[in-house]
Amino acid sequence: MSTENPSQNRRNAGLFERAQQSIPGGVNSPVRAFRAVGGTPRFIARAEGAYMWDAEGTRYIDYIGSWGPMILGHGHPAVLDAVLKAAHDGFSFGAPTEREVELAEEIIRHVPSIEQVRLVSSGTEAGMSAIRLARGATGRSKIVKFEGCYHGHADALLVKAGSGLATFGHPTSAGVPQEVVQHTLVLAYNDVAQIEEAFRTQGNEIACVMIEPIAGNMNFVRASVPFVKRIRELCDQYGALFVFDEVMTGFRVALGSAQSLYAKAIPGFRPDISVFGKVIGGGMPLAAFGAGRKVMQQLAPLGPVYQAGTLSGNPVATACGLATLKEIAKPGFYEALADKTQRLVRGLAGAAEAAGVPFAVDSEGGMFGFFFGSQLPQNYPEVLATDQPRFNRFFHQMLDRGVYFAPALYEAGFVSAAHSEADLADTVAAARSAFAPA
Ligand code: PMP
Repeated sequence: MSTENPSQNRRNAGLFERAQQSIPGGVNSPVRAFRAVGGTPRFIARAEGAYMWDAEGTRYIDYIGSWGPMILGHGHPAVLDAVLKAAHDGFSFGAPTEREVELAEEIIRHVPSIEQVRLVSSGTEAGMSAIRLARGATGRSKIVKFEGCYHGHADALLVKAGSGLATFGHPTSAGVPQEVVQHTLVLAYNDVAQIEEAFRTQGNEIACVMIEPIAGNMNFVRASVPFVKRIRELCDQYGALFVFDEVMTGFRVALGSAQSLYAKAIPGFRPDISVFGKVIGGGMPLAAFGAGRKVMQQLAPLGPVYQAGTLSGNPVATACGLATLKEIAKPGFYEALADKTQRLVRGLAGAAEAAGVPFAVDSEGGMFGFFFGSQLPQNYPEVLATDQPRFNRFFHQMLDRGVYFAPALYEAGFVSAAHSEADLADTVAAARSAFAPA
């Protein structure tokens, strides 16, 4: 499947061999292992702006951006400066700091559905805590999630998740007892009839409905406006909480996150709880969950829902996140980012069309997806029906040409403010050559 030339990849291959001795599969997060696309993972030595260099010194245009956080590109001077200054002042105190208050205030300022926020260290932790909070606040047990949506690897959410799990074909994970997921209902994404039926039969037991508003763990699939609107109505009618998992979309598709886009289409729309990660940490381990004051005050030390973390609100991570948020809040930032991203996907689509390759693209802000198929999928089975071997071939053809897309068709892509016109043009030229008949 891979077209890679072993002599050009000796150091990466050597490191991968060595890594597999001490780390399961050689990686600390499964998708990095290139299992879906085959070949040797690149061991990254450093990154700057829109580029990463691997252990061989080969340069790649990076469209993964650490799976979303690097919206300003790597090593943005203002962010780097803030991180270095914070590090000099101390790595971790286990006590409150002014900077974590500032970061909370910044998140609240941009996302009107949130009155209070708690900072944690990973999206998994934030999603898991949001579920506990929803259950605590409603006194109910059942949660609804959708097929192909990934909300981190907490037990109760590890059912029919996309991303790395889709790659490995597990409907769920070993080590998660049936009893633990018995309260998790998994429904089809964008299927209004199914969610109506679930509420009709079990509505009074449902604590929350959790969704990726633009699902980035089955590549890029938007929740339709009627679908989101209907979930909002059902949650209101039955007293369930609507949880927006914006770990990927938060501050990535718009400054107000994906919920601001749905609020434009659905007057007055707000989720009850929001989950953030990635961009708000700017590349450091930082995530958050937030909601209205009444719900958030259920949390310890005020309320009965326990949640804690030794490194939560870490001073270096909050410095990184704050500096990132300050840059992306500057006027015109998202317009420029969205424009770049649109030009990239249109360029890729144009190259595919010229070569007669069925190809469908979509993007929002700095997040994009492309599929080898003639139509954009609306749900997980439709994503699975796209041409995986063709994707895998394309991935390697682009990697060989110095363009680093996500190594699995279940993943979204990301453009940063550091990507230049020349980077986009080089990417489209590489795609044209990849699509050309051999
Ligand atoms: N939710 C979504 C939508 C995600 O994309 C991810 C990670 N890709 C998570 C939750 C989990 O975040 P983390 O990997 O930081 O635990």
